[in-house]
This record gives sequence, structure tokens and C-alpha cells, in this order.
Amino acid sequence: ERARLGRLRRLPAVTEDGETIELQANLEIPAELPLIAQSGAAGIGLLRSEFLFMNRETLPDEAAQFETYRSVIEAMGGDPVTIRVLDWGGEKDIEALQGEGIVPEVADRNPALGLRGIRLLLRQTELFETQLAAILRAATAGPTRVLLPMVTTVGEVRTAREVFDRVVRRLRRRGERLPDPLPPLGIMIETPGAALSADALALEADFFAIGTNDLSMYTLAVDRGETDVADLYDPLHPAVLRLVQFATEAALRMRMPVSVCGEMAANPRLTPLLVGLGLRSFSMNASAVPRVKQAVRALNIDDCARFARKVMEQSDPAIIQEMVLGQSPGAA
Ligand code: PEP
Ligand code: MG
Repeated sequence: ERARLGRLRRLPAVTEDGETIELQANLEIPAELPLIAQSGAAGIGLLRSEFLFMNRETLPDEAAQFETYRSVIEAMGGDPVTIRVLDWGGEKDIEALQGEGIVPEVADRNPALGLRGIRLLLRQTELFETQLAAILRAATAGPTRVLLPMVTTVGEVRTAREVFDRVVRRLRRRGERLPDPLPPLGIMIETPGAALSADALALEADFFAIGTNDLSMYTLAVDRGETDVADLYDPLHPAVLRLVQFATEAALRMRMPVSVCGEMAANPRLTPLLVGLGLRSFSMNASAVPRVKQAVRALNIDDCARFARKVMEQSDPAIIQEMVLGQSPGAA
């Protein structure tokens, strides 16, 4: 079994009927790079940049961030890297930000609904500009994309793009070498507000990355880390699936890249449904890539689409679970 999954590394992620599916890896800490290289992932679909800010008393400066981003981009040897700007907040505690007075010592009573992700960056523009400058400079080392976390409004994307453009102008004045074309600026779809505004957001963003971890939490009002209600945390709930479908279709209408980078993407039993909803790009834990690739290579696009239509007719999460987890799409 291990050897078989190992051989998969060199095989393409193509469905039985010839459709290419992009399988990328999530990176949480740089120590995962060798595993990512071994996994056969086609690049990094979600670099969670929080590690740079964790377990330290001061903020990393532009030079330190630049070195880290550049080394990751170089290690991917020409495969694309999507760098998500700092997603502080929610369950992600980052001491350095408190030490520097960037976030209040006394946290919000409801941190998941508070100053998190892009909300914090747009209030602390220096923090945001420093990170963007480091990413933009590192992006000369290979194909790079910039991803904004926790977006809920079109205004946030517009303002973030203004900051981005300002940083580009400043770097040019400084005589820095920048990539041409500049990195695309995309957004996480991880709140119901963003998913339901996906048609409007698709006019502002260059790509979508659907984050099903937070999307499930916010849609179902169930804390993703809360064990008392863990049984209610269900990415297969029809409400979550409808939001994923709505956002995916909005992106496809605009011919805009869209991917799923939440834990859902790592479960090969969910791949037929997600492909059936029109998704062709997934980013996951590196360790999941071989199994998902194996699932992809057995798929037929028409079967997946038929299966997804049947699933989307259902309103009972228990029935959907049985359809998706208990049976193959060919048999549906
Ligand atoms: C998500 O919310 O689905 C996601 C991919 O981001 P994170 O898990 O880092 O919050
Ligand atoms: Mg998230």
C-alpha cells in the first residue's frame, strides 16, 4: 500500500476521462517542506504565514519575512506558492502582536467574531505593508499568489488592493526588482457573508480559496475546536455545501480560479462531490495528497456531476453523509 502510494507521486492527477485536477499542499511550518516535496503536490495552495509571528516577542521585519518566503518559493522549484497574509485571531493566538500593542491585551469575548484576519491588517497597515513588501520581493523567485483571510465585504478587498498597489509603488521607488506580472490577489471564502457575496467579490478578487474549516464553523454556529458540539460540526451539512456551490459557480462564471483548501479537500471520499460541484483545484495536508490523487484517477467527471446533483437535492445532513461517505458515485 505504501509503495503503491509512493508510485503515485510521479503519476499525474488526471481523472479517468482525462480532466486535470490540481492537487497542492498546505504549509503551516517550513519543516513540512520535505514532506510536501515527497507528496507529489503541485505547489503550495495555502501557506499559513502565522508561524512567522508565533512564539516570539517582536514582529518579524521585512528582511526576515522576505528570506522565509523566498526560501519556500525557491524550494518549490517553479511550482506556484499561495501565501496567505497573517490570519491572526480566532483560535490563533500570537503573542508578538500583543507585546507590540498591535492587538489589545484583553481579547474580544468572541475572538472568532472579532478583529481577525484582514480586519486586523487593514487597521494595522504597517504590519500589512511590511508583509506585502516581503512577499512581493520574494515573488521574483517563482510563481506566487497573495491570499487575504477572513474577508466579508467587497470594501475590504478594494482597500487591500489599494494597500497592495501602494506597496508596489513604494518598492519601485526604492529600486527593488518586482515580478512581472505582479502576483494575483485572491481571497479566502470562509465566512457565509463572503460565500453569499461571491458574485460581487469575484469582480474584485483574482482568485478564490474556499476555506471549509471556518466556513463550516460560521455557517453552523459551531466552534471548530469545541468538543461539546463536535457532532454538529459537519462540512457536509447542506447549508455548507450550498455556500461552496454558490461561491464555486460565481468563480466559474467569471473564469476565475477557485480552490478548496479546508480539511474537506484532504478526504478522498469527498473528492467526487467536490469535483461534481465544478471544483478542479484542492490544497491539503501534504500527507493526504497521494490518497486524493488515487481517488482522482478513478473519477469520471459526468458521474461526479450526476452524483453532486443528487447530493444537492438532499436536505438532511445524515442522508448526505451516507451518500457521500458510504457509497461511490458510480454506484449512486
Ligand atoms: C479554513 O478556514 O478552512 C482554512 C483553510 O483556514 P485555517 O484552517 O487556517 O483557518
Ligand atoms: Mg480559516
